[in-house]
Amino acid sequence: MQLTTCPSVSKRPKGDLIVVPFFQTKKGAEPAVNIPDLKGTIGPILKAGDFSGKEGATMLAYLSGKNEKRLLLLGLGKTCSVEGLRKAYAAAMKRCQDKKWLHVNFVLPKCDKLELAEITRGVAEGIALASYVFDEWKTDKKPFYLKKGVLVGARDSALCKKTLGILSGVNLARTLINRNALDVTPQALGAEAKKIAKQFSNAKATVLTKAQLEKEKMGLLLAVGSGSRVDPALVILEYRGAPRSDDLTLVVGKGVTFDTGGLNLKPTNFIEDMRADMGGAAAALGLIQAAASIQLKANIVAVIPTTENAIDANSYKPGDVYRSHAGKTVEITNTDAEGRLILADALSYGQKHFQPSRIIDLATLTGAVVVALGDLRAGMFSNHEKLAKLCEKAGETTGEKVWRMPLDPEYKALLKSDIADLKNAAGKRMAGSVTAAIFLKEFIRKNTPWIHLDIAGTAFLDKARDYHLSQATGAGVRLLIELLECIA
Ligand SMILES: [Zn+2]
Repeated sequence: MQLTTCPSVSKRPKGDLIVVPFFQTKKGAEPAVNIPDLKGTIGPILKAGDFSGKEGATMLAYLSGKNEKRLLLLGLGKTCSVEGLRKAYAAAMKRCQDKKWLHVNFVLPKCDKLELAEITRGVAEGIALASYVFDEWKTDKKPFYLKKGVLVGARDSALCKKTLGILSGVNLARTLINRNALDVTPQALGAEAKKIAKQFSNAKATVLTKAQLEKEKMGLLLAVGSGSRVDPALVILEYRGAPRSDDLTLVVGKGVTFDTGGLNLKPTNFIEDMRADMGGAAAALGLIQAAASIQLKANIVAVIPTTENAIDANSYKPGDVYRSHAGKTVEITNTDAEGRLILADALSYGQKHFQPSRIIDLATLTGAVVVALGDLRAGMFSNHEKLAKLCEKAGETTGEKVWRMPLDPEYKALLKSDIADLKNAAGKRMAGSVTAAIFLKEFIRKNTPWIHLDIAGTAFLDKARDYHLSQATGAGVRLLIELLECIA
């Protein structure tokens, strides 16, 4: 798909369709932009009162003029926001895909509350995000139809290019999560990292094998992986977009390629989505793909601990104690609290080898965060006020919203073990996402700014929503690009 701009309505190219936005007012739908050559067509439609202008509402009309054959009226709702534009233009994009239209003019609204750059961004992102399809398992594949989308009224064609660059990372994350767990193994994630490194001269991938993990003494990652038919791995993908700077962000993404829960087996209704338990890893790879595509001026190292959490005679056992890469010992009270174990080793490894300026980890870590926040916001935990504020702002800007959760030190007592330095799960159900975060904090070196994003709710949707299909969303990629851009 190509996305380009055209500054004025009168100069727009010919197309199969023109998408025209409308606001919803008390008197009915009102055009959000003036298009002189379409007045004669639009007037009677609005007079009839059938089109409300509700956000995401569409109505098709046919045109007798020369420029386009069809007109799609598109509702923006009562107010104009970037997120609202994403949702509305995603609805238009879906109609384009259904109807096999190849060349479409998307007219931007005029809106006092937003800058043209914001309007362009909302429209471009809505179209781009909604253009994703996952049909690898559909026998009757529907090809992707839209060849060229023109943003009429926009001037910044670089922004379109950037949007598609970031989208390549979002879509990589979506597809890796959507694919079968038996295919997306730790080794497959390693191969994906190498593929990204091959594309960009300032990216580099390294994959530590099981033997190397043993040498590095990554006892927690090895423990979780001990019952799996495939070896665990540590995937390291470095991107140097600011080679002259010492600043470096370490991004750690949880890569449990399937989580049975281990010997503390998950029951029906809790196990079906567990191929998405590598959502953090997918987002970390997607982030580097996106950053490299737009040549973001930042140094990022993704460290991805990856394994299956499987059941086998060799599976790690509840009650046993294992030594982490950092040296601390951990009593396993629940084998389903495996994410924090592999993250702990990766956090420790990343800090030792890369001396990061800040750390961000992404993980589909707890069911508790889904209970607390649902699937609209990721749980965000941080030891650093400024970084946390920037992350909240990036969430509002991108629509990948976060909600800051507490790290009350009192809860640390719940992780106290009689036989080891700490236990991996509190045992009680209260504050489940907080105690998980507090466990991770034990492996963050003092004074290193850190954010933990629990994306268990946002990485995977049961039903299609706005610009996302059901299943993988690629959550975290756009959020972190925005955050790193603010820091750079
Ligand atoms: Zn688990």
